[in-house]
Amino acid sequence: MLKIEKNELCTGCGACKNICKQNAISIIEDEEGFLKPLVDHYKCINCSLCDNICPIFNYKSSNTKNPKSFLFMNKDKIEKEKSSSGAFFPLIAKYIIEQNGIVFGVIWDENIKAIQASAQNFDELEKMRGSKYVQADTKSTFKEVQYFLDKGKVVLYSGTPCQIAGLKSFLKKDYQNLITIDLICHGVPSRKIFEYYKKMFLKQKRDNTKIININMRPKPVKFEYIHYWKIETLLKTYKISMQKNPFVLTFLYNLNLNKSCINCRFNCLPRVGDITIGDFNGVEYFENNLKVEDGVSVILLNNKKGERFYEEISKQQISKEVPFEKVVRYNLNIVEATRPHEKRDAFFKNFLLKEQSMEDFAKRYIKIYPFEIIYIYKRLPNFIKKIIKKILAKND
Ligand SMILES: Cc1cc2nc3c(=O)[nH]c(=O)nc-3n(C[C@H](O)[C@H](O)[C@H](O)COP(=O)(O)OP(=O)(O)OC[C@H]3O[C@@H](n4cnc5c(N)ncnc54)[C@H](O)[C@@H]3O)c2cc1C
Repeated sequence: MLKIEKNELCTGCGACKNICKQNAISIIEDEEGFLKPLVDHYKCINCSLCDNICPIFNYKSSNTKNPKSFLFMNKDKIEKEKSSSGAFFPLIAKYIIEQNGIVFGVIWDENIKAIQASAQNFDELEKMRGSKYVQADTKSTFKEVQYFLDKGKVVLYSGTPCQIAGLKSFLKKDYQNLITIDLICHGVPSRKIFEYYKKMFLKQKRDNTKIININMRPKPVKFEYIHYWKIETLLKTYKISMQKNPFVLTFLYNLNLNKSCINCRFNCLPRVGDITIGDFNGVEYFENNLKVEDGVSVILLNNKKGERFYEEISKQQISKEVPFEKVVRYNLNIVEATRPHEKRDAFFKNFLLKEQSMEDFAKRYIKIYPFEIIYIYKRLPNFIKKIIKKILAKND
């Protein structure tokens, strides 16, 4: 059956594909470039295993709605430079590997597509560092996790909230040897648009080689309000500023996000993972000598297991408990899904018709403001930001 097939709420988490004993479900890109299940009705025997574990219909969390919250920074400067935020992920991941455990996280495959993969040593772990701002394919990792858990191995799985909900629904029971981390999530951009961007990039640079790595949050950030990408090809390494990157702009302005992200059921309280991690936006209102660009993370401990792990690994690090209600004020994606840009559907329709170049799309739908304006805007309280957004929307 698969009730979720062709449903806008489907996140493409892959739990249905992982559970199907008939191999009747594949995860493929839909028209907009988001991963969705496709059922081979010749193979399907209507056993309903997929419907019974689909997190959209079945996920329930027993985590707290009032998690302990911490400001976190890895003490090791080099560790922090290699990660996107405060480098909490590599700290816990290394701890798990030292216990002879397995870590699951997102890497670029050989074609620079985002996929969930496993790591059993420090070298394999390196590829998981860094946020890849595009939807990742979970492949067969849920089945692999179950295999290792049943063998008694300690397993760490990190991913977007929908991926963690998918994994937990797939496993059906709570394993003491599993620890899960969900990211505070703005939403995931389309894989198709990402492919298009990569192709256009090489063409514009007249680079006939191949992209071999993309760092979407390189550090150190030169000026705190300038973000850039580092794109490595076989020929050279390029630095692309945020303002000149239509893929980043369409992400930040909520144009290229999955419809299921806009209706996300997992970016809310209680959080799905044992531990939630994200950027500490608004950290300057807690510690006036810090900025999020310094690599500061917010950590939420959603249950006793999360608390135990955090206590164990954060001892030698920079960690300070902070009031949860105040953290949420500057990080709304802890409690709610991102609201879409009102032209989101038009953007996809026009993009898919390939009427214009991606830059033209970005220019048509996004007002690009000077850095100084963005700098000031970022520091305003949320209620003022909301008023400004309303005024701008009215004038559009
Ligand atoms: C698509 C996306 C949207 C995000 N939105 C927000 C946001 O709105 N607010 C916020 O505070 N934080 C957000 N984050 C989280 C933030 O960017 C950092 O990833 C997080 O704080 C971890 O930082 P770190 O330094 O501890 O880990 P790092 O060492 O940088 O490791 C990166 C971690 O992210 C995981 N990861 C990377 N790409 C993906 C992906 N495509 N899908 C699933 N997991 C992935 C890796 O497996 C690893 O666990 C988002 C991350 C992603 C991938």
